[in-house]
Amino acid sequence: MGIILIVVVFAILGYVVSNKLKNKFKKYSQVSLKANLSGKEIAELMLADHNIHNVTVNCVEGQLSDHYNPMNKTVNLSTDVYYGRNAAATAVAAHECGHAVQHANSYAWLKLRSALVPIQNISGKILNVVLIASLFGGIALFGLPYEAVGVVVVGAYSMLTLFSVITLPVEFDASNRALAWVKQRNIVTPEEYGMSKDALKWAAMTYVVAALASMATLAYYMFIFFGNRD
Ligand SMILES: [Zn+2]
Repeated sequence: MGIILIVVVFAILGYVVSNKLKNKFKKYSQVSLKANLSGKEIAELMLADHNIHNVTVNCVEGQLSDHYNPMNKTVNLSTDVYYGRNAAATAVAAHECGHAVQHANSYAWLKLRSALVPIQNISGKILNVVLIASLFGGIALFGLPYEAVGVVVVGAYSMLTLFSVITLPVEFDASNRALAWVKQRNIVTPEEYGMSKDALKWAAMTYVVAALASMATLAYYMFIFFGNRD
């Protein structure tokens, strides 16, 4: 029962935050930037200002699909952001470049996060195996005692939670770098700056909700496996 409640509460919270984010972006996308720069131009300017010349700016499909790829050093902007000349596009383009700057400066939290990617993948696979096994024949996985299954589940889920928590400083720092640069470069009016800041705040909120959901689920698993069962 407990797990269903946690899932439902955070599913609702996640929906509310992502809906708010979409509405903010929609609103700020309609405000044309005084400087009339596109997301692509903003990104290229920010990279050049940080002496980064080996990162390419690409246009990718989808909405809010924007990301920085450290593997091939690309800033990938969605069509709306790439061509957009507004406060929302500015915020996203500069944020993704913030990740490129982190990468170029070997920012510790980003390095740690990248190092954890394989462990996160394995943990996810382990949890899937346990879930499938528990659907067929109960929690006594491969004849393992209940406590041993608990160690596996809690261990794997701890890794997923750690990953979602380490994502937070990486995301907040990228936004801070973006906003600091935008301000110092003087390419937005104070009003546009406020909009960019608000858009990034709501984008960060989605990561906060994900991390909280992960922590709550971990606490639940710890309780059912190792809690007081007298
Ligand atoms: Zn980010």
